[in-house]
Amino acid sequence: MSAPAPPITSEPSYQDWLALRCVPVMRFVYAIGGVIPLIYLLGDLLIEPAQAEVTRLRLAYLLFWLVLSALTFKPGWKLPLAWSYPVYTAVGVAATCLIDGVLLKRPDFILATSLLYLVGLVIAKAGVALTALCGALTVLVTALLLPRLGLEAEAVQRIAFFHLVWAGACTAAAVMVQRMNRQLFATETELRRTLAQNQRLLDEADKLARTDALTALPNRRQFFRTAELALADARRDGTPLALLALDVDHFKRINDQGGHQLGDTVLREVAQCCRDSLRASDLAARIGGEEFALILPGTDLSQAQQLAERLRERIAELQLPASVTVSIGCAALEAQMPGVDALLARADDALYAAKQGGRNRVSSAARVRGLID
Ligand code: GH3
Ligand code: MG
Ligand code: MG
Repeated sequence: MSAPAPPITSEPSYQDWLALRCVPVMRFVYAIGGVIPLIYLLGDLLIEPAQAEVTRLRLAYLLFWLVLSALTFKPGWKLPLAWSYPVYTAVGVAATCLIDGVLLKRPDFILATSLLYLVGLVIAKAGVALTALCGALTVLVTALLLPRLGLEAEAVQRIAFFHLVWAGACTAAAVMVQRMNRQLFATETELRRTLAQNQRLLDEADKLARTDALTALPNRRQFFRTAELALADARRDGTPLALLALDVDHFKRINDQGGHQLGDTVLREVAQCCRDSLRASDLAARIGGEEFALILPGTDLSQAQQLAERLRERIAELQLPASVTVSIGCAALEAQMPGVDALLARADDALYAAKQGGRNRVSSAARVRGLID
């Protein structure tokens, strides 16, 4: 069984997740409300001109929906989101009763338009308690307001009854939608966790593939990758580039006399010395058993020799059970060199010369070939 995924701090809560999805849907539903009077106005214009009074009412309706939509789109809610639904429902149904029932004399429209609030709620938020509360509000506002506005008792009863039925249906729908939402949220959360976990594993695998396990320095492959980039940069910018090849002297003897554990300690200490000698743009890597390489952008041969000398001294001063020295070969990039291989080969030549010269010393490629001195 795999280990449980560690908690992810940036995970949204269910409520945040719901709000993120519900607000755009609710805006859409409210915007549709504004489209209805627009369609009527268009019909009046294209099919049959309406009486001036009816046009005024339709414009009033359009204005009402525009205000509602503008409030919904307004960034930063004055009311908490949960409160805004009941308030909009009460105000919206009251306005609908007034415009449809009394001014337009079309009480059947009250149902159609005011029910949009509930549909909006179910689709958008789908909070069961909230949907039930807003459903009850539509029934209450209709039943209380319509008789006062002078509508017949029979029409009021009919409208209130249909609102009741619709409120029940919407609440049942809210239960189902909420259940699906929770499932969707759980699936999404699981997926997000799995993706994050996979990314962590990929990052780790990538790091392992680039790093030497014993010294934690970049390995040979990573060295060549970085060195090729540094070489391309140096060629493009016309800046110098130097490379040091470092090999521990008589390392086999250290292993034989002090054991492999001591050998490993020596490698780690040499790696640390290399690391401590670097500038931000330099890179040190372990490219073989007891072989290290340092790539030094912006450094010419004489600067590289100075750095190599300091590094050699530092390693020779290490306080370890065995005395440790290194030989270092330096090389600088030249125009005719095809790539990093050639530069490293040149540094290896110098390293070989340093070994031949008695070890514990620095040698440079130019000096090997007799170009300097
Ligand atoms: P020279 O001065 O000419 O470089 O001699 P040397 O003994 O250092 O070179 P040689 O190539 O003969 O020996 C290298 C030894 O390094 C042999 C090998 O067992 C040892 N070695 C390679 N990798 C590791 C490692 O990861 N840990 C340990 N402890 N030893 C290693
Ligand atoms: Mg060696
Ligand atoms: Mg060696």
